[in-house]
Amino acid sequence: MQILYKSTRGGESGVPASRAVLNGLSGDGGLYVPEELPKLEVPLERLAGMSYQDLAYEVMSRFLTDYTEEELRHCINSAYDAKFDTPEIAPLRQADGAYFLELFHGKTIAFKDMALSILPYLMTTAARKNHITNEIVILTATSGDTGKAAMAGFADVPGTRIIVFYPKDGVSPVQERQMVTQKGENTYVVAIRGNFDDAQTGVKKIFGNKLLEKELDQAGFQFSSANSINIGRLVPQAAYYVYAYASLLRKGEIRPGDPINVVVPTGNFGNILAAYYAKQMGLPIGKLICASNENKVLYDFFATGTYDKNREFILTSSPSMDILVSSNLERLIYRIAGGNADETKTLMDALSRGGKYEITPEMRDQLADFYGNYASEDEVAATISRIYWEDGYVLDTHTAVAAAVYGKYTEETGDRTKTVIASTASPYKFARSVLHAIDREKYDPMQDMEQIDALAAVSGVKVPEAIEEIRTAPVRHHTVAEVGGMEAAVKKILGLTD
Ligand SMILES: *Cc1c(COP(=O)(O)O)cnc(C)c1O
Repeated sequence: MQILYKSTRGGESGVPASRAVLNGLSGDGGLYVPEELPKLEVPLERLAGMSYQDLAYEVMSRFLTDYTEEELRHCINSAYDAKFDTPEIAPLRQADGAYFLELFHGKTIAFKDMALSILPYLMTTAARKNHITNEIVILTATSGDTGKAAMAGFADVPGTRIIVFYPKDGVSPVQERQMVTQKGENTYVVAIRGNFDDAQTGVKKIFGNKLLEKELDQAGFQFSSANSINIGRLVPQAAYYVYAYASLLRKGEIRPGDPINVVVPTGNFGNILAAYYAKQMGLPIGKLICASNENKVLYDFFATGTYDKNREFILTSSPSMDILVSSNLERLIYRIAGGNADETKTLMDALSRGGKYEITPEMRDQLADFYGNYASEDEVAATISRIYWEDGYVLDTHTAVAAAVYGKYTEETGDRTKTVIASTASPYKFARSVLHAIDREKYDPMQDMEQIDALAAVSGVKVPEAIEEIRTAPVRHHTVAEVGGMEAAVKKILGLTD
């Protein structure tokens, strides 16, 4: 069955997958969604015996139907190889009465690698299929992890350039260092004086500038996106939920058909939406538990039916979730509006005008699969500390948000369904906050790199390659811009102005 894509705002339909991957965002400002969600239709027992790569093929081929089997297998095998520090790619680790799906074994030690190690292959394949001769310019706003993972994926990929914007004071020291030391002749990093939402809004604005698009085309460039609004990021993410289920089957923890719950530490709503898509494909998922940090817009949304970003932006110890406008929620809104693009557009227009919208009672009824809650900074620290002292397992701050919210969920509901928690980053990426939670008096006074060695001793986990690299790598990127100067920065990088 062929799957075509359309915009959540109604401006486009009948778009083949490779086109949607290339474009990133639809021309009307909406997001591409499959016209129909495909079914997996592989017996669950069979999945249990598959490698990560074979299983990813089964899932992704259902969505990316205009890629040939050879093309897609090439993309998958090039992405999920020895770049990952375990052949399992996404191992499951049992702790604290749940299963942690470790999605941080790729090059930049955050779950973004799961999608961004394959996106460059999907995109260059798509360019070839669609006879694109322009150079593809990837524009990306990052709350810390996407930028590095996208650059690692696109560095020195022929026919592409990548420009990353990050909030100057809104990322962890390790995250910033990882970005400014990025190698590759086609990589550019711009720190902006603003927060992540400013960066994301700025990028969307540049995408929406038709005049600029023309100017770029004449100069032989075209934009695309590596943000989770790109369908080419969402689809690879659905695969690891199926893999988690298959791993539980293989380990004999569940029987085929048993439901599992999934907890996802959420920011832009991409990761949890992938789990929702996996459920729609037929994977037996019960509850989708959406975990927020103190920027709890989504919790309030699930509780009240009103999405309201008009509030203080809080900088937390889980910076990759410091987001007030969760872009991918638009795809869920579209689904619960019964695929009504006009209604979706009306709500999204209200969001961009007044920063808020309210869904109808009928739409709220469609949200029964979801449970939302949040964790305060104190609860996050207490969770890291408790699980370390009880189980010897060290969580990063984002995963700890999820674990804390899972605790609230079981207490509230008594639901004991086997549960997979998406573990989205290595604790090494947030060493300072993690060690602070474990023993502040001992670790707070240490220098950044001293802390890395301390964390190795505490966790018993070898220092990842990604961290070893930045100990000595020279800083290559120094650009800082105002929020209003993002477009000018892009033009300068592309040599359109001097
Ligand atoms: C990006 C990120 C998240 C949030 O994921 P979304 O798909 O944006 O909801 C959570 N944790 C970490 C470590 C991340 O990098």
